[in-house]
Amino acid sequence: MRLTDIAHSWLKESLKPGDITIDATLGNGHDALFLAQNIGEKGHVFGFDVQKNALQQSQLLLGSEPCRKTFFHQGHEHMASTLPESIKGKARVIMFNLGWLPGSDKSLITQAKTTVSALEQSFPFLAPNGKLSVMVYPGHEGGDHEAAMVMQWLENVCSPSDSELLLEKVIVPNRPTAPILLKISKKQ
Ligand code: SAH
Repeated sequence: MRLTDIAHSWLKESLKPGDITIDATLGNGHDALFLAQNIGEKGHVFGFDVQKNALQQSQLLLGSEPCRKTFFHQGHEHMASTLPESIKGKARVIMFNLGWLPGSDKSLITQAKTTVSALEQSFPFLAPNGKLSVMVYPGHEGGDHEAAMVMQWLENVCSPSDSELLLEKVIVPNRPTAPILLKISKKQ
């Protein structure tokens, strides 16, 4: 089973019709499509990407999905000032899939600093019992640094005993360069 499938089945347990969701890295739109397919016509997918072709590709892929879609041609590090105030504390699921877009410009890789900033800005949008998934790619050039920074930051945020956030890591044993899935659950 691929890690993306594991992420999807974990997130799917929580998704309900009418849910608000955020895809912080639209890429080819596969995660946004998964979200759209699990929230019905009253649901809403918000999405971010810095590449115009990622937005176009995602719009195309989700074209026949009945839910509401709002995609921003904007870095996710501007999430706090871009998303509507009214959805604070209401996102059931937030997804980050880092690295570069397969088949596209590898110089447009996500960066540790902006990714950590985006993660920090995304937490206030998470609903009670909400879930946030982050797929990191230590095997990508530059991805090892980003993966280390993201994990260190998340471990700090999620580790205090009074933290309302639980962090779980899914790794592929014996393959140090394989992607790592980070699962963050917000308590009630
Ligand atoms: N690594 C994944 C795909 C990740 S796609 C895989 O192998 O399947 C990551 C997406 O993040 C790309 O489409 C890229 O354009 C986008 N991206 C890069 N920097 C970004 C930023 N600051 N804000 C939002 N999206 C960004």
